[in-house]
Amino acid sequence: MTLIPKTKRIRNEEYLKTIRGLPCLVCGRGAEAHHLMCVGERGLGYRSGDNWAVPLCRNCHTDLHRFGNEQKWWNLEGIDVIEWARRNWERYIEPSDN
Ligand SMILES: [Zn+2]
Ligand SMILES: [Zn+2]
Repeated sequence: MTLIPKTKRIRNEEYLKTIRGLPCLVCGRGAEAHHLMCVGERGLGYRSGDNWAVPLCRNCHTDLHRFGNEQKWWNLEGIDVIEWARRNWERYIEPSDN
């Protein structure tokens, strides 16, 4: 059995702080950070890097985890969350002003 190589997922506490400062993507309430599970970086069940964190309030967050099928849950909400996460991360690492 081969050892699992050291994960290269992005860790960025500062970015998580900005995520927690945003309104919930679904209902607009105060949010906490949820790490997308459906991005498939390292297969299902692995926690994704901090660049895949999105803002969800406690209610919506609990609802999503209870629902189980993340991709389907976002589809039902009509949100392209992967696109959102990618854009928000890019904006964070490459500020367009100054
Ligand atoms: Zn919410
Ligand atoms: Zn979560």
